[in-house]
Amino acid sequence: MVYLKAIEANGFKSFADKVDIKFDSGVTAVVGPNGSGKSNITDAIRWVLGEQSARTIRGVKMEDVIFSGTDTRSEMNAATVKLKLDNQSGMFAVNNDEVIITRKLFRSGDSEYYINNERSKLKEIHELFLDSGLGRNAYNIISQGEVDTLLKARPEERRTLIEEAAGVMKYKLRRKESEKR
Ligand code: ATP
Ligand code: MG
Repeated sequence: MVYLKAIEANGFKSFADKVDIKFDSGVTAVVGPNGSGKSNITDAIRWVLGEQSARTIRGVKMEDVIFSGTDTRSEMNAATVKLKLDNQSGMFAVNNDEVIITRKLFRSGDSEYYINNERSKLKEIHELFLDSGLGRNAYNIISQGEVDTLLKARPEERRTLIEEAAGVMKYKLRRKESEKR
């Protein structure tokens, strides 16, 4: 089973100092006072998987993910998140028993993605996750209100979810692309 091994964040939201949060393969509960950064962890996961909507991760513009400073500490120039996933099952099509996805955003607006430390395109990250049931649009992060969305979804929307879970999305996207040419 693929599982999340660790998240490293630096300059992302409240994580001004570099944090390395390690997970085991079982169930993990994150506890802490209000405003201590629990939701920022799930925001970091969504973000590194390629989230393009600032609103989904509770911001107004994408720059809002970069540490904005406090009374005693100045703002940072970039946010970096690294996600380490176990790949001993070989589910991800990389030649390694670990997959490391990195996203970095600079205040200038420049954005970088890496797969196992190799500079990559956002599209490659999407492809890596398409048939895995993980990824930006997959229902592996369920936030407040999303259960309702799922229950109230129209049949076509629900079909998309099932297709994603069944792993046919990749082929549909490829067909769409080839039809464009
Ligand atoms: P709750 O229990 O209320 O859900 P939480 O633990 O989920 O709280 P978060 O929402 O993860 O808390 O963290 C919110 C904190 O993150 C706030 O203190 C906010 O100021 C801080 N924060 C968010 N974005 C940034 C940023 N860009 N720079 C600095 N701090 C930030
Ligand atoms: Mg929260």
